[in-house]
Amino acid sequence: MTAHPLLPPVVVDERELDEEQVTAHERQVTAEHGGADRDVELLAIGAGPSNLALAVALEELAPGLARDCLVIERDREISWQRGMLLPEALSQVSFLKDLVTLRNPRSKFSFLNYLHAVGRLDQFVNMGSFVPYRIELADYLRWTAESLSMVEVQRGRACLDIRPMWTGGTLTGWSTQVDGGQTIRSRYLVVGAGRDARIPEPLHGVAPDRVIHSTQYRQRVGALPRDLPYRVAVVGAGQSAAELFSSVQSDLPQCRPTMVMRSIGLNMYETSKFNNELFFASFVDEFYASRPDARARMLAQMHHTNYAGLAPGLMDSLYRQVYLDRLSGRPRLQMVTMHDITAAREDGDDIVLELTDWRNGAVQELRVDLVLLGTGFSPEMPTLVRHLADSIGLSEIKVTRDYRLVIDRPNTAACYLQGVNEATHGIADSLLSVLALRSNDIVQDILAHRAAHLDSSGAAQVSAPVTAAA
Ligand SMILES: Cc1cc2nc3c(=O)[nH]c(=O)nc-3n(C[C@H](O)[C@H](O)[C@H](O)COP(=O)(O)OP(=O)(O)OC[C@H]3O[C@@H](n4cnc5c(N)ncnc54)[C@H](O)[C@@H]3O)c2cc1C
Repeated sequence: MTAHPLLPPVVVDERELDEEQVTAHERQVTAEHGGADRDVELLAIGAGPSNLALAVALEELAPGLARDCLVIERDREISWQRGMLLPEALSQVSFLKDLVTLRNPRSKFSFLNYLHAVGRLDQFVNMGSFVPYRIELADYLRWTAESLSMVEVQRGRACLDIRPMWTGGTLTGWSTQVDGGQTIRSRYLVVGAGRDARIPEPLHGVAPDRVIHSTQYRQRVGALPRDLPYRVAVVGAGQSAAELFSSVQSDLPQCRPTMVMRSIGLNMYETSKFNNELFFASFVDEFYASRPDARARMLAQMHHTNYAGLAPGLMDSLYRQVYLDRLSGRPRLQMVTMHDITAAREDGDDIVLELTDWRNGAVQELRVDLVLLGTGFSPEMPTLVRHLADSIGLSEIKVTRDYRLVIDRPNTAACYLQGVNEATHGIADSLLSVLALRSNDIVQDILAHRAAHLDSSGAAQVSAPVTAAA
């Protein structure tokens, strides 16, 4: 592939992009843990909000298990939605829906205690807002990981593959391959590694260095020369697409962005306080107990509370950007609505998107240097989980109410899935709203599973389930 005149060779792997930022300490942390294989009782994959909430719950509810728990994170730093840590972006939920408060309001791991610890409590209260900035939530996650005293968190450790371990036809554990060649064996496994990015089918054949999904935006756009006249397509009509369209104007100040969407235009999120009650952790029971067609109907009716919509503040500021752009007399912002991307190809240095107007079938071409994708996440189970299910021989990936993977074979080991169970546990499953209580459900289920499946010597080591805070 020849180099594009406006684009330096892009390193797609964000871990390589972060290389120069790796401190000596971080190198040491990574090096120390490489090499020797290891056994732990519980391995948690991914140190995002889901597994950090689990780590907090383990320390507060099951310290014995916490001391034998390892969390591995592929990135070299603990953060939150790294690709979209835009300076002014706000979280969309109350700070009270942090990793722990709804389970244990007295916890030292609360967002309020974080603010106190970093000396920003007065200012946050003075701001008079329930919603923190995204960057401060990311820092809260880092602080939480560093504040854990029993659960070990290793950064810069990606899980590559997971295999079941069998003893005479009984599933007895998991063997997890980590980059660097190490194998970690565990009886319990919790996968909280997020969801796979959704890349529209017509773009699958386009060189990946010309397509940037929102999950990689900040790292990859930050690596481009700023002042070149890129022609940029921004695909999507939800919050991420709108944030990309807005941010790229300042990140690449000479660029000419065109927003391409299927919908008739941009919509706002639905924000009814009544419907918001369906995001309560207490609603999970009701959702889970509903008939499959009723679950699907509820999800469809709630779609615009979480997807394909913009926060009101962003809608206003984006409209003002477009208005001022038109007022300038030299408009550079464009929006193409009601068009599907039906094909994409490379033509010399250009990416050519074929846009089909779904009202009349008319086709037009859009030639760009870069495509930014605000297309969200795949609704399917992530590849990592699908491979795991294949290796166990599961025909269907299903979890119990307590998030345990249903394995129809004798077992003394178990695997839990976090953040990928919207179809059975409701629309809040991928969000922060349910984390604090979900981690309690998982910890209690692990404790009960251990008590039921270990032999008497093992069972003697199991802590009694604790429902209140330690
Ligand atoms: C831009 C954006 C903004 C959002 N804002 C909000 C919001 O305001 N409120 C809200 O409730 N929800 C929001 N969400 C939804 C978001 O999914 C949740 O907030 C939350 O991040 C889910 O946590 P998680 O731990 O399940 O997954 P993630 O946050 O995706 O974390 C997964 C972690 O696993 C790591 N990982 C992945 N693969 C591997 C591997 N193979 N080996 C090791 N580690 C791995 C990743 O690096 C990551 O750190 C937002 C999502 C996006 C994309």
